[in-house]
Amino acid sequence: MFLQGKRALVTGSTSGIGLGIARALHSEGAEVVLNGFGDEAEIAKLCEELGATHIGADLASVAGVEELMAKAGAVDVLVNNAGMQHVAPVEEFPPEKWEMIIALNLSSAFHTARLAVPHMKQAGWGRIINTASAHSLTASPFKSAYVAAKHGMAGLTKTLALELAEHNITANCISPGYVWTPLVENQIPDTMAARNMTREQVMNDVLLAKQPTKKFVQIEEVAAMAVFLCRDDAQNINGANLSIDGGWTAE
Ligand code: NAD
Repeated sequence: MFLQGKRALVTGSTSGIGLGIARALHSEGAEVVLNGFGDEAEIAKLCEELGATHIGADLASVAGVEELMAKAGAVDVLVNNAGMQHVAPVEEFPPEKWEMIIALNLSSAFHTARLAVPHMKQAGWGRIINTASAHSLTASPFKSAYVAAKHGMAGLTKTLALELAEHNITANCISPGYVWTPLVENQIPDTMAARNMTREQVMNDVLLAKQPTKKFVQIEEVAAMAVFLCRDDAQNINGANLSIDGGWTAE
């Protein structure tokens, strides 16, 4: 329970990886603030399970992030995890999807960080953990906005790491390969269309083809890394981009 007395905000934590991270931080004693969309009754159940509060702000807008940070109060552990995907050839990529993915997957992390850092500096301790992706290190076709945003996330993380190092605040990326969550499930139909493939071909020839292990990464494995980054043992892990991708980016 080494996170007792610390408040952790996990963006996009009503589902998937973010929820896994929120559960893991809660199990170490952190007071958790959830964010994200979903069924109200389900979210109420999660809040009860985790003794958490939920702030449903839309992080695709600056005003939404500002609302989130004002309601969340002082945050010791900031996990920028909210994200979305859109799969389409570049000439067909809807400009509004580009804008939204850059805003949510990249800009929201800048805005949460700029608003969380003053408290962290004052407290003399902080952890910023960004869920990037294997796509922060390498590209795939038809994911222009996502790959651009995730590469940007890696750069933002390095900058934060350098700026904040002397304040006992670390900033790192965790970069998973494919994790079986709604985000991956939802991109299958568009990938089938973009590549003229069956569902099975997308699973085996696009998704698992990237991962030498031929297995999806587990949510709990990503969450365990987030917890480790909060430990004193991790105080010198700063500005890193930590791959959990079965060897994908080793190629
Ligand atoms: P998910 O779809 O299960 O969860 C996304 C979360 O973000 C949900 O809680 C959703 O409500 C929230 N969200 C969506 N739009 C939002 C908005 N406008 N404002 C606030 N919250 C919003 O997806 P996931 O797979 O758990 O993805 C989480 C993060 O992990 C994303 O940043 C994603 O890019 C990254 N990631 C996922 C994978 C994967 O294979 N699943 C791999 C690498 C990186």
